[in-house]
Amino acid sequence: MTTREPDLSAKPPILIVGGGLGGLTAALALARHGQPARLLEGAPAFGAIGFGIQFGPNVFYVFDRIGVSDAVLEKADSPAAVLMMDAFTGKEVTRVPTGPSFRARFKYPYIIIHRIDLHNILLDACRREPLITLESDAMVAGFVDHGDRVAVTTEDRRVFEGAALIGADGIRSRTRVQLLADGDPTPNGYMGFRTIVPMSDVTADVRRDIVALWGGPGFHIVHYPLRHGTLFNIAAVFRRSPSSERGDVTTYRAELERAYRNAHPTMKALLSMLDLGRRQAVGDRDPIRHWHKGRVVLLGDAAHPTLQSLAQGACMAIEDGLCLADCIAAADGDLMSAFRRYESARVVRTARVTFESRYIWDIYHSEGIRRDVYLQMLGERSEADTFQCLAWLYDGCTLPPQATH
Ligand SMILES: Cc1cc2nc3c(=O)[nH]c(=O)nc-3n(C[C@H](O)[C@H](O)[C@H](O)COP(=O)(O)OP(=O)(O)OC[C@H]3O[C@@H](n4cnc5c(N)ncnc54)[C@H](O)[C@@H]3O)c2cc1C
Repeated sequence: MTTREPDLSAKPPILIVGGGLGGLTAALALARHGQPARLLEGAPAFGAIGFGIQFGPNVFYVFDRIGVSDAVLEKADSPAAVLMMDAFTGKEVTRVPTGPSFRARFKYPYIIIHRIDLHNILLDACRREPLITLESDAMVAGFVDHGDRVAVTTEDRRVFEGAALIGADGIRSRTRVQLLADGDPTPNGYMGFRTIVPMSDVTADVRRDIVALWGGPGFHIVHYPLRHGTLFNIAAVFRRSPSSERGDVTTYRAELERAYRNAHPTMKALLSMLDLGRRQAVGDRDPIRHWHKGRVVLLGDAAHPTLQSLAQGACMAIEDGLCLADCIAAADGDLMSAFRRYESARVVRTARVTFESRYIWDIYHSEGIRRDVYLQMLGERSEADTFQCLAWLYDGCTLPPQATH
């Protein structure tokens, strides 16, 4: 990071709407450059929804730069492998070996971590940083770009001003609605459920040291351990009939049982452990080329929400945060050129994540002869093939030259 100059705290802050992983990273990265940031979070307190999250090694290029890698590694685990299993036979279809050969190739580990733990690491780092102001209970209702500054108003009518506004407010971003007015994210017809249970409660016959994905026609389950093997994280997804009404727990239980009726007994055992109280419609957006207008710019899910099949949505939000801060720091006050450079660094990479995530989603959930083809293709892959397929992603990304248009 660049050395901080003594009087930079006199600079107007950059406002960030949304204290998720992307917003916290952006605040830290800006502050490490000596740029003050004011982070506005709508929830009554900064915090995360408490499930597990997986990260590819690409995220460590950012964690190193913002100085949190050691803290993350202390809380995280590295799975023995990431395995895809056949939902009917229970046999392994393909794997990403995440042991020594992976470390040798990609320099950093593949990790699984409790989202709350990661959130707290970033939040604590923000709290220690004098250039960051954290405002919770600040649900932003809208903004005005005055040309030389931006003002945001919260639902309780407080006004905050800054040199620019970063919309890091997630897949249902209000900042995006006002900036681009391009409609809602597109649901893909699937519904997801997530649960964490103590490892001692897991009776299903599963490996507890890996990330496992069981894929079947129209449904899948992912599971992995958390907090050094003391917790077990399960996510289950299924395709709902387009004619289905909004349901309750009993309806969802019946629909899930129908979707998984031919699944392997282990999947059914995992299903019985699910808490159906929390659910989420799955969706993404078609990629777009421009995420800024004037002094307002988007990052993370607000800019490019993706399906979770590559486990890269948060990685991309975190990469965005650092990249945007680097572009702002290098632009010497020319925010428009900083935002253009940020877009040119990030649009193709994040769009590729979106498109490849859709492709992998289709592979997991395929049926009939298409499924047979995918199973054969995946089964033929060597470790070297797998690493080659992932290199564009896991090798991280670099900044492009200064944008000129
Ligand atoms: C089931 C599932 C599994 C996933 N697994 C992975 C994984 O393993 N690895 C991975 O990298 N990604 C994963 N993702 C994707 C990841 O969760 C998201 O991509 C990531 O959280 C996006 O971060 P963000 O900071 O852009 O937005 P968010 O995390 O959504 O944060 C947005 C923040 O903005 C706040 N906010 C919203 N509106 C306002 C407002 N008007 N004013 C103020 N604050 C506001 C919210 O309260 C929230 O704190 C998964 C997603 C799902 C659904």
